[in-house]
Amino acid sequence: MKYPFVNRDICGYCGACVSVCPENAIELIDLHLNIDYQICKNCLSCVKVCPLGAMQTSDQALKNGKPRAWNSAITKTLKYDVLVIGAGPAGSIAAKTAAEQGMKVLMVEKRQEIGSPVRCAEGVSKRALVELVDLDPKWISTEINGGRIYSPDGSCVTIEEPGSGLVLERKIFDRELAALSIRFGAEVWVKSRAIDLIRENGCISGAVIRRLDGDYAVHAKIVIAADGVESQVGRWAGISTYCKPDEVDTCAQYLIKGISINPNYCDFYLGHKIAPRGYAWIFPKGDDSANVGIGISGNISNESAIDYLNRFVEKKIGGGSILATIVGCVPVSGTLSEIVHDGLMIIGDAAHQNDPVSGGGIINSMLAGNIAGEVAAKSIKKGDVSRASLIEYERRWHKQVGRTFRHLRVIREGVLRFSDETLNDLARVLMKARKLSLIEMFWTALRNDPKLLLELRHLISMGWAQ
Ligand SMILES: Cc1cc2nc3c(=O)[nH]c(=O)nc-3n(C[C@H](O)[C@H](O)[C@H](O)COP(=O)(O)OP(=O)(O)OC[C@H]3O[C@@H](n4cnc5c(N)ncnc54)[C@H](O)[C@@H]3O)c2cc1C
Repeated sequence: MKYPFVNRDICGYCGACVSVCPENAIELIDLHLNIDYQICKNCLSCVKVCPLGAMQTSDQALKNGKPRAWNSAITKTLKYDVLVIGAGPAGSIAAKTAAEQGMKVLMVEKRQEIGSPVRCAEGVSKRALVELVDLDPKWISTEINGGRIYSPDGSCVTIEEPGSGLVLERKIFDRELAALSIRFGAEVWVKSRAIDLIRENGCISGAVIRRLDGDYAVHAKIVIAADGVESQVGRWAGISTYCKPDEVDTCAQYLIKGISINPNYCDFYLGHKIAPRGYAWIFPKGDDSANVGIGISGNISNESAIDYLNRFVEKKIGGGSILATIVGCVPVSGTLSEIVHDGLMIIGDAAHQNDPVSGGGIINSMLAGNIAGEVAAKSIKKGDVSRASLIEYERRWHKQVGRTFRHLRVIREGVLRFSDETLNDLARVLMKARKLSLIEMFWTALRNDPKLLLELRHLISMGWAQ
């Protein structure tokens, strides 16, 4: 029998292993990762998805993995209208929106510093972001004028969209979003971890929050779970937020300084050797630094994301100094089938609201936070926090964004089946086109090289393109 254990010298504490554990046997507390071997069934999903190869196997369960005992006496009882768990972009926007509607809001964050450590390549669409918050130069690193997609043989398709994108400074961005919620009246606690839900007559009515001075019973009419990819809150309510390893992309990234890059474009590199079932990226952060990262499917078991990244960096970057190592994982399965319960809404990465093609989730999580905050306030005002009332959040989410994920998943699966040769052929054809949307890319490819139809049949058979 093989047992997983964490090599603490290597672990990046990103939560990827927590997200794929079907038994809830792994707990991430700031920079402590515990495996409860009494619950673990040794499926080793955690070993597969670890981007750094820190989850390893041993022939025996190691004692140091046992959760430490804790005196869980409740020291204080408090009441709020809305309790938001997790202060990422999803949580902060939900807290701000509900507070703006006059709700008494508390947002709790288990980390000691909001926004740190960063788990992101920090790229967003400027147009989408402007709809949600006023831009602030404090958290903008670089403005982007387009994207360049490189096929395995180095052919490059350039998409020109001047001023369309931004690379953020997430550390500052996340903290400023939390500050925004405070300006609208929300209260924020850091180093405060939700450890269980409080229920009354089957309805979620708050959570137990573990703080330095003890456990607090925080009663709330509505709980919003914005606890990211390692989400546990939904699971406590009986909703499976667990991701299968092949439904996550496991990622590793370096922030590299002192390199020569084009600061105006985000670059994407495709190819089965470069990034199996994923892609590599270079997102500029100023003139001489960039987030250089890679995401691969969570079920690739022979090597870790960091091994692919090291090879990519050696080949494409060559020099510079690494200022930060960033690891994590993103769900790419599309929204969970259930994101609402009596007294509870799940938002952001916790609800798997990431774009299934790119894995991007900043804008989506903020959109979900906005809808959830509005629905929370509306439901509380009308005195109905049942699932029947909160389901408005789920409907609005799917109408605005979620329903497109079905198509994006189809595109993802289709493109993942392309051979490297097909990607090269496609790139050569698309290099001739002037302005490109996905549909235009498809038809340009077909018009110029009908034999590609054989490869693109995956997309057609899946109903994406008629
Ligand atoms: C390597 C990498 C690159 C990425 N690049 C991009 C990109 O370029 N563009 C993009 O749009 N997206 C990107 N993403 C995805 C993006 O980072 C997420 O989609 C986004 O952060 C989701 O926001 P969120 O608020 O849902 O979750 P998070 O930002 O993860 O926030 C969740 C918060 O909940 C807290 N929490 C968890 N459990 C508890 C608890 N029990 N009690 C209290 N607090 C708790 C966590 O500490 C965390 O702060 C990337 C992800 C990775 C891993």
